[in-house]
Formats: sequence, structure tokens, C-alpha cells
Amino acid sequence: MELDKMDENEWRYHGEGNKSLVVSHVQLSIVLRLLKYPAEDSENPPQTVEQAFRQVQNIVDFSSNVMSCLLGEKFVHSGEVVKLPLEFVRQLSIKVQHQRPAWRCDKVMDIYSGCALCLPNLTSPTLHQPTHTPTLCIEIKPKCGFLPYSKHVSQDIKTKVCRFCMHQHYKVAMGTWKRRSRYCPLDLFSGNRQRMHFAIRQLIDEPQNNLKIFKGGRCIFSSMDGIEDSMDLNSLLHHLRPYFQYGNNRINSHMTSKALLTDFIQVVVNALLSAGGGDGGVGMDRRGEGRSFCEASPFNKERTRHGSQGSPSDSVLYRVRQTQMLDTLDIEGLYPLYRRVEQHLRDFPKERTRLQMDGPYNEAFLEKLHKCPSEDDGSLEYAVSKVHQYRVAMTAKDSQIMVALVPSCEEEEDDEGLPGQRQHRDFLSSRPPAFSYSVSILDLDPKPFDNIPRQLRLDQNIVSCYLRSSCALP
Ligand code: ATP
Ligand code: MG
Ligand code: ZN
Ligand code: MG
Repeated sequence: MELDKMDENEWRYHGEGNKSLVVSHVQLSIVLRLLKYPAEDSENPPQTVEQAFRQVQNIVDFSSNVMSCLLGEKFVHSGEVVKLPLEFVRQLSIKVQHQRPAWRCDKVMDIYSGCALCLPNLTSPTLHQPTHTPTLCIEIKPKCGFLPYSKHVSQDIKTKVCRFCMHQHYKVAMGTWKRRSRYCPLDLFSGNRQRMHFAIRQLIDEPQNNLKIFKGGRCIFSSMDGIEDSMDLNSLLHHLRPYFQYGNNRINSHMTSKALLTDFIQVVVNALLSAGGGDGGVGMDRRGEGRSFCEASPFNKERTRHGSQGSPSDSVLYRVRQTQMLDTLDIEGLYPLYRRVEQHLRDFPKERTRLQMDGPYNEAFLEKLHKCPSEDDGSLEYAVSKVHQYRVAMTAKDSQIMVALVPSCEEEEDDEGLPGQRQHRDFLSSRPPAFSYSVSILDLDPKPFDNIPRQLRLDQNIVSCYLRSSCALP
């Protein structure tokens, strides 16, 4: 990619979140992630070019120096800051505008700074690919996978029903979504294959912003992202079918939709439980974990009594959950510490830099995070450390896991020179075909310090809404 010869015709709209818009290169396996601003600021950028550059550099530093250490280097691709020609960015913004979903258009793409993040395209990574079968990729935003155990939690319900499940009631009440999702993060993070399978099945039924599926780098399934065909289970099955034609479910070359979906989910579950790359085996070092089911999950409660031993310690789920659990105090216990820091910064504004409240996210930051007294000694340092830990946990709770899959070549190689055998084995086989996969974690931006009060209010609103609506339930 030559920065001085950027051509908007070589890029296409790829997707967006609340904070950034992503375009992918039509040939190379790279994406550009650009910042977004509230539409009302579109005439006047809310920050200078310098500040925008700093913001994008902070994202790279936070991902590479902080999140990567906690989540595991093999899962994290931090990318690099690039400075794009403004004319290119303007043309790009015009080009992608009509492809953007209407409900995301309350924000506009930053066309003033020219700063962007250049990342590998994780929906079409270069896996060991003997055939030209397009990569399948499933993106999951799993959200928080544990129940708070902090003594500061004031409402008992928070220790029984997970945040995601409670938040669903609030989102439906607020009109964000029409229907509640039956997905529960505790099922996905359980390490129990049945529960994980159930969780992914629920995501497919109600993807909201927690599930997207890509084929050959293009989104083929998501919810209300303005993409034709999306949200249509039949079209998803149609896309998946060529990858799963095998085995004794195949009757006249047609396996049932149920079997197809089951196999697909099983492959995703395997990848999520794996050590995260290649065809690696499943580590067995499981950790016993208490309170690992949520009372609101529709997964059969009887079944959850048995064997939810947590995910293997080298798996992506384990790493994400461990990082989320740096939120040890819950927002209720954290808030007074936020106030302690905020008060100090009000008295000594210059301390904001020394305490690295807005970065830089370097080794010193990581040290502050780790070097935390075990008990609150009333110090500023304790409060700062806890606030940093909380922000890191917030990032992990908001990140997405990408699982990219291509059919593995192994079976074909085995069968070389033995015509007929493959067909025979396929017919008898009852397990899904082998896939090569790569697993990554993305969207690892630092969450602003100043957002913490909003988190407390949101928590209170979600809990009171849940208590009201669950009382109203039969
Ligand atoms: P959120 O609202 O979740 O905070 P965000 O605004 O921070 O989202 P991202 O989640 O980073 O933005 O990116 C938006 C979407 O773009 C992702 O959901 C994903 O589908 C796609 N995307 C982002 N980074 C990559 C990448 N490196 N490779 C492929 N696709 C990507
Ligand atoms: Mg995102
Ligand atoms: Zn739940
Ligand atoms: Mg984000």
C-alpha cells in the first residue's frame, strides 16, 4: 500500500461500530479503520489533527502494550497508524456513505485528520489454503462472561442474573432492539460444549450486534446492517452448505438444515476451545469456577448442574474472561475510587499526565495496572491502579472475537491415489470435516476515564429496569 497513491476505488465499505468505520482493500488482506464523529460536529472536527493522531496512536499502544500482554500476543493484531491523503479520505467517505446502515448515520467519518489505523483483514487472513475456497469467518461480541462477586454489589440480582441478560430488558424497553436475545455470555464462556452450542445458536437467531458472519471477507449475515440477504437464515445455510457436504447426514447430496447448522456451530466451538491457531489440540488445564450460570439463561438448568468446568486456559475465551475479571470491585465499588482520583485531578490537573489517565499506554502503564495493593490503603495509587484495571476490563468486555475458517487440506492429501475411499469415508463419517482456523481478538480501544460516571448510571438503570420488568413477568 503506497500512501501517496491511494485510490478510493481499491477500497470498499466493510463495516462499522459505534466509534469507527472500516474499509477493506479489494485485493490485499488489509483494512483501514477510521474514526467517527457525532454528525453535529461534522462541520467542525471536535479535535485537532494532532489530537486525532494521538488518539489513534493510543489505540495502537493500548492494544500492543497492554491488551496484548493480557490476552496473549497470538490473538492480538494491533496494526499501525497511517496518515492518509485528505482527498482520498473525502472521496472514500462519499463512496461508502450509501452503504452505511441508516441507524449508524448519527455519526460521520473523520475526513479532517487523515489519520487511520491500518490492520490485517481478520475476516480473510492468509490461512493454509490449498483450495480457493473462500474463508468463512464468524465474529462474536461475547460481552461480560462472569457474575460480579464484589462485596460492593448492592443488588442481589446482579449476582444471579448476568449483565447481558439484564441489559436485554433495558434495550427492548428503550427501543434499541425489538426482541430480547436468548444468548447468555455465561453459556458461551462455560467451556461446556452443549452450553456453548446453545449460546451460538441463540446468536444466530437474534444476532443484534453480537454476531456477524463473513465469507471471502464479505459480511453475509448480521442484523440490520443494511446488507441485503442479512438476517436470513436460509441464505446463511445456502452459503454454508458447500463447506459441510459430507457424512451420513447426506441424503441425495442434501443434508438437513439442522445438521448443517449443528456442524457449523461445532466447528466454531472447537475453534473457541482450541489454543487459537492451526489445528492445535485442546488444552485440558481447566479451572474450576463457581457461580458460572445465569438464572436468566434459557439453557436447561438441569443440564448446567453438570460439568461447566470453564474453558481451557490456553483458549481465547479463557483469556478474554480473565481480562474482564480485572473488574474486581464492580462499578459500585469502583466509583468511589474514581471519585478519589477525580478529586485529586481537580486539585492538581497536571497530575493527569503523570498518572497516565489518557495514556501513554506503555510499560509504565502496565506496571501501574499490575502493582496494586491488595487492600484499599486509602492511597491515590490504589485508586488509580483500580481505575486502570477497570478500564482494561471494560475494553475486554466490549471486544470481539474473530474465528476465521477454511476447510483443511488434510483429508484430501490422505486420499491421494485412493479414489473411492474418500467418498466411502465421507459417507460413513459422522463428524464435521476438518477446518484450519485462526482466532483473533479485535476492537481493543482504551475506554475513557471520564466515562466511568456514565457506567454507574447505566448500571443503575439496567438493574432497576430489570427488577421492574421481571416483577411484571408471570
Ligand atoms: P464498537 O461499537 O463495538 O466499539 P468500533 O466502532 O470500535 O465498534 P470495530 O468493532 O473495531 O469498531 O470495527 C467495526 C467492525 O469492522 C467490526 O465489527 C468488524 O466487523 C470490522 N473490523 C474491524 N477491524 C477489523 C479487522 N482488522 N479485520 C476485519 N474486520 C474488521
Ligand atoms: Mg466493535
Ligand atoms: Zn445471562
Ligand atoms: Mg470499540
